[in-house]
Amino acid sequence: MIRTALALGALLLASAANAVTIVENINGIQVGPDGKLQHFGSFVIGDDGRVTQVMANPTPRMKRFDHMINGEGRTVLPGLIDAHGHVSELGFAALSLDVTGTRSIGEMQQRLRDYAAAHPEARWIVGRGWNQELWSEKRFPSAADLDAAVSDRPVVLERVDGHAVVANSAAMKAAGVTPATPAPHGGEIHDGLFVDNAMDLVNKAIPVPTPAEQDQALAKAQEILLGYGITGVGAMSTSIASWDAMRRAGQAGTLNVRLMAYLDDVKSIAAVPHPTSWLYGDRLRAVGIKLYADGALGSRGAWLKQPYADRPDTRGLQFHSDAEMLKLADTAAGAGFQVATHAIGDAANAQIITVYEQLSKKYGRDRRWRIEHFQIVDPVDIPRLAPAGIIASMQPTHQTSDRLMAEARLGPNRLAGAYAWQTVLKSGARLAFGSDFPVESPNPFPGLAAGISRQDMSGQPPGGRIPAERLSLAQDLDAFTRGAAYAGFAEDKFGSLEPGKYADFIVVDRDPTKVDPISLGNTQVLETWVGGKKVWERTTTVPAAPTERGK
Ligand SMILES: [Zn+2]
Repeated sequence: MIRTALALGALLLASAANAVTIVENINGIQVGPDGKLQHFGSFVIGDDGRVTQVMANPTPRMKRFDHMINGEGRTVLPGLIDAHGHVSELGFAALSLDVTGTRSIGEMQQRLRDYAAAHPEARWIVGRGWNQELWSEKRFPSAADLDAAVSDRPVVLERVDGHAVVANSAAMKAAGVTPATPAPHGGEIHDGLFVDNAMDLVNKAIPVPTPAEQDQALAKAQEILLGYGITGVGAMSTSIASWDAMRRAGQAGTLNVRLMAYLDDVKSIAAVPHPTSWLYGDRLRAVGIKLYADGALGSRGAWLKQPYADRPDTRGLQFHSDAEMLKLADTAAGAGFQVATHAIGDAANAQIITVYEQLSKKYGRDRRWRIEHFQIVDPVDIPRLAPAGIIASMQPTHQTSDRLMAEARLGPNRLAGAYAWQTVLKSGARLAFGSDFPVESPNPFPGLAAGISRQDMSGQPPGGRIPAERLSLAQDLDAFTRGAAYAGFAEDKFGSLEPGKYADFIVVDRDPTKVDPISLGNTQVLETWVGGKKVWERTTTVPAAPTERGK
């Protein structure tokens, strides 16, 4: 008995000591602790999936290793971290009707008809992604627009920013909403369009996804994220149902993307009373609570200090009084959670900065208070971030995709503090970048491109919008790696390849230091590795269609 146990112990030790992998002959690029770009040629992964050594030499003389991976000179970056994404929503979006990019109401109707025909089993048709700004009609959709395409079952389609839904008559009937239903505080209703706080009137009637559907959505989201080289996510507004799916995946060993979960609202504290430790080999942690201070700019829900330039009768939607906002954030912080608050308009940003300043005095500085989006900000408020330890969690692709809309909403003279990345860094505050998927594509490379160019993928506007706010590649990559990890209290685990951190890395098809921004934005990920294991690989062969596989 004793002999067997000893023998087994020796065997385990031997296999542990043996499992050393050297990754050599690579063009490694990352941001160093000094914030500068660092080049490396090889690195060593220990048996626990963590990096043990990083070397400049592409062919180091190593005496003892088990596996050698020859990178054949290809470019390797640390796995990219999206500081702000909606994981389950990405999966559900990929599995549901997608009307993003439609150029007219007619095109949206056609996609709806096609989806209905392809999914006769769907009790409800749920979709997302419309943006009336991109439609030739330039008007919001109505119930009648949807009825003209599908009227036999409920249809609910969410706006691209998640701040409005349009419902058909069947959906309104199922939800018990009539034209006489009053809009709740902080919401609006017009002809089947439900904005911000009114959205719940119809959304609450949508059948709740089953646990199996939640698992399917999480699996789909992971597949998409790994294919874009995302190995870690600040999983925003995580519902308890989605958190449960993350835990099931962790237990089943199928969680490959490392998730820093921000639970949806203080009501989640009833189910998860305190932040968890890192679970399942550092794949999952409930770290924070996500709050909202206002709506979004597109639907004029962003709360502004001055009226909208294109609708002078409104300053947008203030979600909470100052006292309420303080109480919500204090409740989350008091339970030990990090607080991440959505604030788009300059009034909302000023409000939450004041709240965080107050809480900093109560809880100390290293609570890493987060402002999500930090989009339209009064320049006088930016220097207030660093002293209170506030992180600006921003999405560079919002800058390019919202640029014209922001100019329309605010006029030309109120955008000095908008998407002001370089000003934020110069003020001493930390920046964390992400995409806000599925609001934007989770592909981080167009975001990296926008970070250095402030241009969209067609090169507009020439020279970039407010070029002084452009970032260097090192600052930009930092915000998508180290900065995003720091923003989730995970900088000791990932965000760079350094001894003690996980070997989460990606192999890409081009060197970001040698290409122009548009080419950077078109970077293709070839392989994605998490904890020293390959979890995704680009295949050149076309996967078999489901019907063929089923034969
Ligand atoms: Zn978001």
